[in-house]
Amino acid sequence: MPSAANPTTPTTAMKPSIVEINGLRKSFGTNEVLKGIDLHVQPGEVIAIIGKSGSGKSTLLRCINGLEVFQAGTLSVDSKPLLHDNAQAMRALRQRVGMIFQGFNLFPHLTVGKNVMLAPKLVKQQAEAPGIAQAKKLLTRVGLAEKFDAWPDQLSGGQQQRVAIARALAMEPAVLLCDEITSALDPELVGEVLRVVESLAEEGMTLLMVTHEMSFARKVSDRVIFMHQGRVHEMGPPNELFGNPQTPELKQFLSSLH
Ligand code: ADP
Ligand code: MG
Repeated sequence: MPSAANPTTPTTAMKPSIVEINGLRKSFGTNEVLKGIDLHVQPGEVIAIIGKSGSGKSTLLRCINGLEVFQAGTLSVDSKPLLHDNAQAMRALRQRVGMIFQGFNLFPHLTVGKNVMLAPKLVKQQAEAPGIAQAKKLLTRVGLAEKFDAWPDQLSGGQQQRVAIARALAMEPAVLLCDEITSALDPELVGEVLRVVESLAEEGMTLLMVTHEMSFARKVSDRVIFMHQGRVHEMGPPNELFGNPQTPELKQFLSSLH
């Protein structure tokens, strides 16, 4: 089913996309979980991805990050196509895409500073890792400069997730993917992480975030994508999508949240 609301304004259509996805299909065995996704993301755009559990949100982000092989369609980041049989192309892609997950995934045997400094080498096999000054700058950006020598288990969940954001930024990604990054946090720690994400959005970072924080999505995103059964079921500016949902499926999803 085509999306009910799919506005493309002339201004956004003229800029080259930083993420370009056409006809993406992904199956696990006989279970097709992405059924033809088309998505063009502009540089600096903030996109919130919403939808029921199992609708394919995480799989879509994992495809963009090169973590999943897909069966059909094309996907490129910064004009570099994702080619699973080309190790060099995959490395180039992974260096352009940062991803943060629900779990904090810091290396427990490394200090906070080392987590930020070594991740590009360990995870992305990048020759150039940030130095101490750069790592401190990144930690300052997430409000944790004083934790440089601390160990991950000395930090709260919110602080650990902010370190994970600093670590992702150390790769200087063109796009940052966030998959429910506040879902595992105690409610009182959610705000500090969302504030960091909001500051990145304000600085012009291209963001694709799967989130259950609807008021945050409404406030920060330029565009909201509602996924349903492996398709982009509705897409549009947050005020339209939340204020005037077009399909019964989105209406039902939104009312299930209250
Ligand atoms: P969401 O993030 O929207 O909850 P997912 O992308 O995680 O949805 O999952 C979409 C569908 O793909 C679900 O039916 C899920 O069971 C299936 N799926 C996800 N990952 C795997 C996997 N590694 N192997 C088999 N099935 C999977
Ligand atoms: Mg998910």
